Amino acid sequence: MPAFLDIPNSDSLVLRNASVPACLIEGLPAGTNVHDDGIANIDIVIADGFIDALHPTGQNATPADIDLSQSMVWPCFADVHTHIDKGHIWPRKQNPDGTRPGALSSTAADRAENWTTEDLRARMEFSLRCAYAHGTAALRTHLDSTAPQHKISWPVFAGLRDAWKDRITLQGVCLEPIWGYADRAFGTEIADLMVEYGGILGAVLNIQDDTDNLLDFVIGLALDRELELDFHVDEMGDPDAKSFDNICEALIRNGYNRPVNVGHCCSLAIRPQDEMNRALDLAAEANLRVTSLPMCNLFLQGRQFEANGHDRRSQTPRWRGVTILHELKARGIPVAIASDNTRDPFYAYGDLDAVEVFSQAVRIAQLDYPVGDWPMAITRTPAETMGLSDVGRLKAGGPADIVIFRARSYSELIPRPQSDRIVLRGGKAIDTTPPDYRELDDILARQPA
Ligand SMILES: [Zn+2]
Repeated sequence: MPAFLDIPNSDSLVLRNASVPACLIEGLPAGTNVHDDGIANIDIVIADGFIDALHPTGQNATPADIDLSQSMVWPCFADVHTHIDKGHIWPRKQNPDGTRPGALSSTAADRAENWTTEDLRARMEFSLRCAYAHGTAALRTHLDSTAPQHKISWPVFAGLRDAWKDRITLQGVCLEPIWGYADRAFGTEIADLMVEYGGILGAVLNIQDDTDNLLDFVIGLALDRELELDFHVDEMGDPDAKSFDNICEALIRNGYNRPVNVGHCCSLAIRPQDEMNRALDLAAEANLRVTSLPMCNLFLQGRQFEANGHDRRSQTPRWRGVTILHELKARGIPVAIASDNTRDPFYAYGDLDAVEVFSQAVRIAQLDYPVGDWPMAITRTPAETMGLSDVGRLKAGGPADIVIFRARSYSELIPRPQSDRIVLRGGKAIDTTPPDYRELDDILARQPA
């Protein structure tokens, strides 16, 4: 596809007349015009791979400048919740009924049967190529770490993290049901593995027994080893799922002071108002950061059936599964949105395209009007969750890692898939063609030895 704009392969560029969400600019230049919906008009000076300066549009313009004609410019994206170890298995292992239990059982079967070093590396690399082509610069993935998978997946992850370090900053979280930590020896082994591989300690919590004791043990493991924590929480439409509160209370009780990321938090949206208010207070006190996965929630939540003789017939979903993004943000809790799964039994679609995540989230969770600072949810906020101060924002001195859209406004950005976007990494245009699915045909067809 021909680019809508020619970006010369030069070490120095001036991109004039860009429309940038002001919330994504660190150090908004004095005199910048910020118009409706928080869009700033600026010129971007690029030198030797970095942003040399940001100016209000029109200052010091020269004929050699590239006129963006008000095209939107965003920093490259941070996708803080993905599962690239599961990605792209859909052609060989589908979800039997589209529910979360169906996803768990079919994925576990595929993992036991197929997740060799070679299989994982091929699919994970494919996912990273998708994310990179779409303009993502940092990505956190959960990795199924139930024995014996942990000994296969983490070395593959470490190899890819190293191979990709100049293109995508990769972080890993061990994924294990919280009740898996009831085996204290295995829990300790996993925590030590996270030290060895520079990983983040994680667990999945919904409705389970012995929650407080298990949380105290997991948080203790993290405290002893100075590990970060990242939890999957209450991914269900049952108001009795209150692990969100249990996590906050356990973090406070154990004196864990570092920010903790929690994903999903679906049931929070259907709990009584007084419980919701208390949960918001707890989250603020516990230094929680929340990541919503709207596309995966739409796919998996609220799927229901009615008996139809011997068959089951799909019913229209009434519950769409998204947490209380607006209320959390209003309470001062950092809120991110992320991809979650891609072409696997948890989510049959998706391509690690942050633009799709954003534009879908705007529709699903009504992140409008005004769109305001919601672009932070797929850029700056998740980058901060990942501890990355150079990703997800435009600033003088930061890397020239940017995405240029033909669109000039949200009303031009959100309706179209932005397949003609231009991605600059270190000031140079990259190939934005995502890999061909055919490349995975052989690995998905291969039978385990
Ligand atoms: Zn997840």
